[in-house]
Amino acid sequence: MPIDATQPYDDQNIFAKILRGEIPNRTVYEDEWALAFHDINPQAPEHVLVIPKGAYVCWDDFSAKASEAEIAGFVRAVGHVARTMGLVEPGYRLLANTGFDAHQEVPHLHVHIFGGKPLGPMLVR
Ligand code: 5GP
Repeated sequence: MPIDATQPYDDQNIFAKILRGEIPNRTVYEDEWALAFHDINPQAPEHVLVIPKGAYVCWDDFSAKASEAEIAGFVRAVGHVARTMGLVEPGYRLLANTGFDAHQEVPHLHVHIFGGKPLGPMLVR
């Protein structure tokens, strides 16, 4: 069920549990600001989620409230993960679903990294 992007942060969401180590994940990268792990239901040959360590519901929440250091750390982590996965030269797609119309399902900000094949047009009309 898609979430309301304006809802308060729920620390029982699945990615909060992953950050606390309560649920296992296949970690690709971790630093002070971010955790990257394989999506449980991949939609492309390479499908990794990058999440900030801080408690932010979505891109709107993060861009409005996160510190400069959190934003810089998170953005650099997304780039680092894509680079170390070897996706820069063939190309990759980033996606941050935000709220109901975008069908965001997990209420902790996550950026999808898709790659590993030609990904086609941006949206199916
Ligand atoms: P959204 O629709 O919110 O942008 O995407 C949520 C993503 O989280 C989906 O691609 C879904 O497969 C993934 N996901 C949901 N639960 C888990 C989980 O427990 N572990 C992992 N690794 N991915 C999950």
